[in-house]
Amino acid sequence: MVYKLGDVLGEGAFSVVKLAVNRKTGQKVAVKCIDRQGLPDEDENSLRQEVAIMKSLKHTNIVEFIDFFEEEKFFYVVLEFLEGGELFDRIVKKNFYNEKEARDVVKVILDGMKYCHDKGIAHRDMKPENLLLTSKEDDSFVKIADFGFAIHGVQQGDRDTQCGTPGFVAPEVLQNKSYDKSVDMWSIGVITFIVLGGYPPFEADNDYKLFRKIIKGKFEFHNNYWCEVSAEAKDFISKLLVVDSQSRMCCDEAHRHPWLQRDAKELAGHDLNNNLAALKKYQNNRKFRAAANAIIAVNRMNKKHDGN
Ligand code: ADP
Ligand code: MG
Repeated sequence: MVYKLGDVLGEGAFSVVKLAVNRKTGQKVAVKCIDRQGLPDEDENSLRQEVAIMKSLKHTNIVEFIDFFEEEKFFYVVLEFLEGGELFDRIVKKNFYNEKEARDVVKVILDGMKYCHDKGIAHRDMKPENLLLTSKEDDSFVKIADFGFAIHGVQQGDRDTQCGTPGFVAPEVLQNKSYDKSVDMWSIGVITFIVLGGYPPFEADNDYKLFRKIIKGKFEFHNNYWCEVSAEAKDFISKLLVVDSQSRMCCDEAHRHPWLQRDAKELAGHDLNNNLAALKKYQNNRKFRAAANAIIAVNRMNKKHDGN
């Protein structure tokens, strides 16, 4: 391989991502390494699908695909190196935080998402750890990463195709209904809630209870955290965390929502330092929790359902 593999950058459920250098050009890249040994056919197929989808995407807010190699023991997906790390790690390092910064992050996510949705591609695993930054200095370049669950078109909701991550997954996915790219809009609603409030809209001490809450779609803007936040931001979230996917805002509507148009200076006056402390806690907990495998969690809930 033309790339020399180096330090581990991160680990996903199915892969190890390593920093690598192009031996000829010196270009730094990220290489997603997938062990072929024992890899089920369906996972190999979904990897090939991920690569095909990534190849078709070119946008400033989406991680760039560079190459794909098949070797005897490993598959390698070569990607643009995003050296800024996770968006949330950057946010929690801030000393001051306000609603304008939160809004700008959501806007960039919507830009990348709209590009995918216009092409008929749903990401299906939108969550903070799949939002990465290009550079260490500048936080404006957020990129959507990890298209491991992405699909083209509408998916019939059978349990083999369930995916996503507890806490971010849309109710229709949990209910085995057919679903489409509107699942991403639900997840963006959850992400926006966390970016502003510092904690998730749906929480429970086990996945089963969590999924019940998501299916009901009931959440609250607790006054302690939300009194500083604009009415437009709350309205934006309320139009995304809608259980009926047909009534949920689509990406175009989200883009045109008044919160996205609001004056930057005014929003900068909404101090979120109190919520930043909550976000620090959230991010720490998440980091320390054992790597939760999304699919296992969803399957576990189905087994409970079957038993009823
Ligand atoms: P998986 O599909 O196995 O979840 P991901 O694509 O999410 O794998 O990658 C796992 C982790 O590796 C990410 O959460 C991130 O920390 C790191 N990572 C992935 N892609 C890049 C990249 N292009 N540049 C830098 N780090 C990356
Ligand atoms: Mg991932």
